[in-house]
Amino acid sequence: MKVKLLRYKCIGCRFCVSAAPELWQISRADGKVEPTDSPCEPDQNICTVDIDEVYTSHVNESVEVCPVSAIRD
Ligand code: SF4
Repeated sequence: MKVKLLRYKCIGCRFCVSAAPELWQISRADGKVEPTDSPCEPDQNICTVDIDEVYTSHVNESVEVCPVSAIRD
């Protein structure tokens, strides 16, 4: 499944990291969300990630907990 990270909206609250630490981390470069297996470029505004269907429920939970709707499936 394709997931879009609207990084320009991210406030670095880590709610998604708590919900799915196997999928997301916070970039040390710019303090915004990025995938654990393919870090984004610093200040990259939008990041599209291909995530295995086995993680669908984790993605859904991440979408729900993000307070600024920065994760879109
Ligand atoms: S929950 Fe949303 S705002 Fe918070 S770190 Fe994750 S993507 Fe960023």
